[in-house]
Amino acid sequence: MDKPKHFLIFKILGFVFLFIACFGFYKLFTGFGDFESNNFMIGMFLGPISIFLTFVFLSIGFRPELSKLSTKSVKYIQEENKDDLRDIVNTNAQITKDAVTTTVQAVKEGLEDQIYCKYCGNKIDKDSVFCKHCGKKL
Ligand SMILES: [Zn+2]
Repeated sequence: MDKPKHFLIFKILGFVFLFIACFGFYKLFTGFGDFESNNFMIGMFLGPISIFLTFVFLSIGFRPELSKLSTKSVKYIQEENKDDLRDIVNTNAQITKDAVTTTVQAVKEGLEDQIYCKYCGNKIDKDSVFCKHCGKKL
């Protein structure tokens, strides 16, 4: 994919303003002894504004390179921590597995049509009238 043109334009603008900033600071320092001189006033105006614009334009212009760099560092970090990441994935998988097992167990128990006799404590069918173990009426 072609790089969009505007990045190049911002780069050029950045360097232009860097040049203007250098010129401004040069004027500022030549006029430093005389605070009412034109050099000092021009320098005070051009220097700070241009250095600010330089940073703005260069950071936009070099964004593709910067983002390539940050992608690279993310890749590096992932590579470095591969074992830890694998650990996390396995732990999460284990937790999910345990949760599913517990849920299935609970559902199974809930579906069972068995209750306990209140006299002898044995398991009996839910809809039975008499206990099949002790014979008492429920
Ligand atoms: Zn019973």
